[in-house]
Amino acid sequence: MIVVKAGGGEGIHYESVCDEIAALQQAGTRVLLVHGGSHLTNTLAESLGVPPKFVTSPNGFVSRFTDRAAMNIFMMAYCGQTNKSIVEQLQKRGVNAIGLSGLDGRVWAGKQKPELRAVEEGRVRILRGNLTGTVQSVNTGLLHQLMESGLLPVLCPPAIAEDGTAINVDGDRAAALTAAELSAEQLVILSNVPGVMRDIRDPASRIAEIHRGEIESVSEQFAAGRMKIKLLAAAAALDGGVRRVIIADARPDRCVHRALAGEGTVISPGPANS
Ligand code: ADP
Repeated sequence: MIVVKAGGGEGIHYESVCDEIAALQQAGTRVLLVHGGSHLTNTLAESLGVPPKFVTSPNGFVSRFTDRAAMNIFMMAYCGQTNKSIVEQLQKRGVNAIGLSGLDGRVWAGKQKPELRAVEEGRVRILRGNLTGTVQSVNTGLLHQLMESGLLPVLCPPAIAEDGTAINVDGDRAAALTAAELSAEQLVILSNVPGVMRDIRDPASRIAEIHRGEIESVSEQFAAGRMKIKLLAAAAALDGGVRRVIIADARPDRCVHRALAGEGTVISPGPANS
């Protein structure tokens, strides 16, 4: 089984990803798709006059502040347009896809982090009401039932907190936990970069291969922002038993095929330089 996570940045063509997922499924490979929707969320928020709020933590991490208004737009973009158009594309290709957010059937249950420490005008403030958290468990029973009935799950944030509140979670880490819990052999993380780069401005600087033991040092030396989270997700997937994680480019044709052929950053278990 393969878990494919397709990012939600600009320039990602879900149609060609759907072509490939349909081909894989027809060839007998079980696939589960996780998707993002950040670009559409931002444009939708702007057009509705509710611009996204970003805050900076005391150690310099920039994150999105998700209040109720932001959550409503997030749901429109992720669970509405993006999820349903991917399901439509897969159905057109003969794949019986079923779109679910992490809320539905408690597919992704997690913990809310309601307080956020943020630096505003040089002072650290506690911001409350942040509908954000992390996924801690996956409803594998439900996913197995769906897949055994011939359905292909298409999953997206938000996840669900214990009290039922919708929480915005990181899609890469949710995909990694899902891959581990479903004992997937491979996790493909598709984004709008060719892989992990030594220099983000130089496409030739892609790091072709790393091992689990090198993730932390590669992250520290080369990755910034969201790529650090992808590397954390890769580490969690490998620690959970996934045999291979590939961080690859979603933009070229046949991107899933290329990723599975090793075009990207291939991350395998094992110590550094093994
Ligand atoms: P997606 O929405 O597709 O999941 P993200 O925006 O979360 O993608 O993460 C990919 C981004 O990570 C790239 O667009 C790039 O700006 C950033 N990044 C930071 N450091 C690196 C690096 N060393 N190599 C590649 N990308 C990096």
